[in-house]
Amino acid sequence: MTEVFKGNFTQQETIPDDAIAAAVRVMESGRLHRYNVAEGETSEAALLETEFAAAMGSKYCLAVASGGYALAVAMRAVGVVAGDRVLTNAFTLAPVPGAIASLGAIPVFVGVTEGLVIDLDDLATKLDQADVLLLSHMRGHICDMDRLMEMCDAANVIVIEDCAHTMGAKWRDTYSGRFGKMACYSTQTYKHLNSGEGGLIISDDEAAMARAVMMSGSYMLFDRHDAAPDVAAFADIKYDTPNISGRMDNLRAAILRPQLRKLADQCAAWNTRYVIVEEGLSDLTGLTIIERPVDEGFVASSFQFLLLDWDDADIQKVVRGCADRGVELKWFGGAEPAGFTSRYDSWRYVDAPQMPASDRVLKGILDLRLPLTFCAEDCRVIARIIRDEVARTYQQASRGS
Ligand SMILES: *Cc1c(COP(=O)(O)O)cnc(C)c1O
Repeated sequence: MTEVFKGNFTQQETIPDDAIAAAVRVMESGRLHRYNVAEGETSEAALLETEFAAAMGSKYCLAVASGGYALAVAMRAVGVVAGDRVLTNAFTLAPVPGAIASLGAIPVFVGVTEGLVIDLDDLATKLDQADVLLLSHMRGHICDMDRLMEMCDAANVIVIEDCAHTMGAKWRDTYSGRFGKMACYSTQTYKHLNSGEGGLIISDDEAAMARAVMMSGSYMLFDRHDAAPDVAAFADIKYDTPNISGRMDNLRAAILRPQLRKLADQCAAWNTRYVIVEEGLSDLTGLTIIERPVDEGFVASSFQFLLLDWDDADIQKVVRGCADRGVELKWFGGAEPAGFTSRYDSWRYVDAPQMPASDRVLKGILDLRLPLTFCAEDCRVIARIIRDEVARTYQQASRGS
């Protein structure tokens, strides 16, 4: 009998009871806007900023409307303007080049390795083309951050980290997001904290963070941010920094604060699931497991593997075979962007030269979510089904050739 999986790959956990209670309290108060506070009250948004900065070990934090907004504001805050070129990953998701384009800036894509991280050798050849690298830790894969920072520092390239998939992850003993000048997070439903929509920016840089607070739409109420630079840092910039409203509201912040307290446990729970799938797919001819560097303290809320150098038709067979048995694989290499997947050459507003070595990797990437609503047995079933479909398709393909 063929095994079929019945779980739902897009079903996240419910919002915890204490977060629901906190949200209800905000609604009962009617004070949903972050600057609408009662006498002596600190807003939920300001509390979230203080707590997130403390959790990551940063001086400053700003809560905003979305992860994509965070990226755009961070780039503006470090000085990116229209017409500038910004280095970024060829393997990432649409909001990353989109944030660059939203400024009228121009993405310059850097290749991807078989470890699914930015290709530092390719980066080395492109560092003279831009002043900023928007580094996407795509799907939680973290490159050699020591080497990357050394290269960027030497070339005077400012690093902004896109930590949409690495909230809670580390490179050696340092949190992802603590290497660059600024780091951005998303609290959209499919990320590590869930407020539907939302974003966070952290930094130790006083001037950049003051500009970010102004831009987020602070209406000169920057003194109501406890995790922002001192008011003196705003003395000059308040006159020449545009307001590009994108604040977070107290309702979302209230939902996020209790979730943040559980982040470490959630990260451990994702990794338990990851390891089960990884073991279930190990030692299978034709399928490449992504090697994780020992220095990478990863948080794997999704799983990737490679079908390197497979024919398109055979990869499609695996995707279809798995789908028929309830396992949703996203194929990053698909010619048409579908769902959350996309490839640098599907963003046609960028005039990007082909990158054959990256194309080979991108063409082979398969991706699946591991929501915490899946139990250990679910993960074993998923791995068995993938294993089965990959093995069968591989055998048929080699017999046919
Ligand atoms: C989700 C995501 C973003 C943007 O976050 P939104 O909150 O959806 O705007 C940015 N980068 C990556 C890699 C993402 O996955």
